[in-house]
Amino acid sequence: MSDVIHDMTLLRKPFREQVEALLGMLAKENIPLAVYETVRSPLRQSLLYAVGRVETEPHFGRTITRARPYESAHQFGLAVDLVFRINGKWTWEEPEWGLWDRMQELAKAAELETLSFEKPHVQIPNFDHDRATMARGPTYVTGWLEWVKQTSVG
Ligand SMILES: [Zn+2]
Repeated sequence: MSDVIHDMTLLRKPFREQVEALLGMLAKENIPLAVYETVRSPLRQSLLYAVGRVETEPHFGRTITRARPYESAHQFGLAVDLVFRINGKWTWEEPEWGLWDRMQELAKAAELETLSFEKPHVQIPNFDHDRATMARGPTYVTGWLEWVKQTSVG
């Protein structure tokens, strides 16, 4: 339940189509960004949230997300992380200056939202985690993937 999931079919529609449109635009411009992560389990979200927040750990102070479990659009099939894929390897360093900026522009053109503090992140505009969580019902870890599968159909 803490693995990285990159299955596009688990994303909700029409968000999924918007991401596909963005990927098409990126391919057209030969920008080597690929889908690194689509949906993310609440457990993995809590593990990522802890990074940089444990005083006794080496990366203390260097956090990687501001979202707790169910605060990220990833738990709702409404976000993806696009990372550079070069020679079969993932890299968070842009191979050429300005490619992250260009991705942000193209995402906007696809009517998607990006975050200035998390370069790879693309989500539906105006994601409201409180509203999404209310719609989800009680937040529990067991059954999350089944729920995501249900919401991605149709
Ligand atoms: Zn993200």
